[in-house]
Amino acid sequence: MKTCIWLFVVAAALALTWAPASGQAPGAPGRTVLYEGARLITGDGSAPIESSAFLVQGNRFVRIGLKGGVQAPAGATRVDLTGKTVIPALVDAHSHIGYMKDLTNGPQNYTRENIVDHMHRFAYFGVAASQAMGSDFGELPYTLRDELMAGKDPDAARFLTAGRGLAPLAEISAANQHHATYVVTTVEGARANVEELSARKVPIIKMWVDTRGGTLKTLTADLYGAILDEAHKRGMRVAVHATGISEAKDLLRAGIDIFAHTITDVDDELVTLFKQHPKTVILSALSAPRRIVSAPWINPVQPLIAETVRPEQIERLQKRLATPTPQAVQEGQVAWDRLARTVRTLSAAGVKIGVGTDGGGQTGDQFVGWTMHAELENLVAAGLTPAQVLQSATRNSAEILGLADLGTVAAGKSADFVVLDANPLDDITNTRRISKVFLRGHEVDRAKLRAGWALQAPH
Ligand SMILES: [Zn+2]
Repeated sequence: MKTCIWLFVVAAALALTWAPASGQAPGAPGRTVLYEGARLITGDGSAPIESSAFLVQGNRFVRIGLKGGVQAPAGATRVDLTGKTVIPALVDAHSHIGYMKDLTNGPQNYTRENIVDHMHRFAYFGVAASQAMGSDFGELPYTLRDELMAGKDPDAARFLTAGRGLAPLAEISAANQHHATYVVTTVEGARANVEELSARKVPIIKMWVDTRGGTLKTLTADLYGAILDEAHKRGMRVAVHATGISEAKDLLRAGIDIFAHTITDVDDELVTLFKQHPKTVILSALSAPRRIVSAPWINPVQPLIAETVRPEQIERLQKRLATPTPQAVQEGQVAWDRLARTVRTLSAAGVKIGVGTDGGGQTGDQFVGWTMHAELENLVAAGLTPAQVLQSATRNSAEILGLADLGTVAAGKSADFVVLDANPLDDITNTRRISKVFLRGHEVDRAKLRAGWALQAPH
């Protein structure tokens, strides 16, 4: 009997999930909405507009200005956002999508349903797009990328994929999500792998060049040089997992485009090399090292986590973070201080820093979507201002991923924005006080998503 009731509840939830979007909802083609009164942070680095008005037609911003200065055409709907703060929707340029599911983490979870669930979670947290960094495999990511980029599911963030990553044999293991990567052993093979990714229209590819503290034999310069050369010939860019300073210097000299993580150390030579390669950018990915020294959001549990993550998963992370040894804390603090110095130094030197979270990555427990908000706090803790951090997570990340439609609130861009109950320039953790999320002019049905996750609880 209990099972029958449960099945009924699940069926009802599925019916809710698949209910067609109302034709009258914002975002419907041709519908015009004037949003008035919010403090607007456009994401372009300018001072906020304290009492703004912006007009959205269908799925695009068409006019932005002061309240009273933007006229609503006849038939437009007016929405009063007085007291709220609006930011551009966030962009996570480094994640691993489709592996985590409840208490498990692995390729067995890599299904259409789970990837879409992750993209719903990103949307719920105000993230408009996320790039999976080299952990995808099979046909599925390309099909889903095309569907979600086209907006087929209005409540899902855009899914971008680097396809299969390129790694040395020593990196391949079932546990680290590199099981599906191309194993790079020859220059010819590396070039052929890049050619395959090019045929899949992957604009950014991922490779690993990390000795893991001198314990692994990683890609040699001739192998990663071939990857870079072949990618650049085909108009693609290369993101690298490389955290050591000496590898980072070699990669800069070789013409690397994107560092997928913060480099663990910095010196004058590294800064000079970045200045000599002004197009090379860096993604933050500070969540894993930071939470060893500070994760104030897990105890007490932030509401956004409590309403999206199963209690036993939260409990597991609380336990994992509860009892580090004094030595682990001390080592973690030293590593964090160095990372923070890299962030501050490279930012001050003018290096473009985007936000990548490594969410859903191999260390697990990096709750999908939430990691973005933890990351913003981490970047402020590292020494950037809230305004710099917001720009990193919006305009910079969108530019790095080549998403010309996203990143700022500006005429002609896709109407992707987050309405907050408090000002993140006062306190970056106010990005968690989400009132509403809009993707492509459509208000994401967060209540429906939340109800669906509540019903997935074990029984
Ligand atoms: Zn990663």
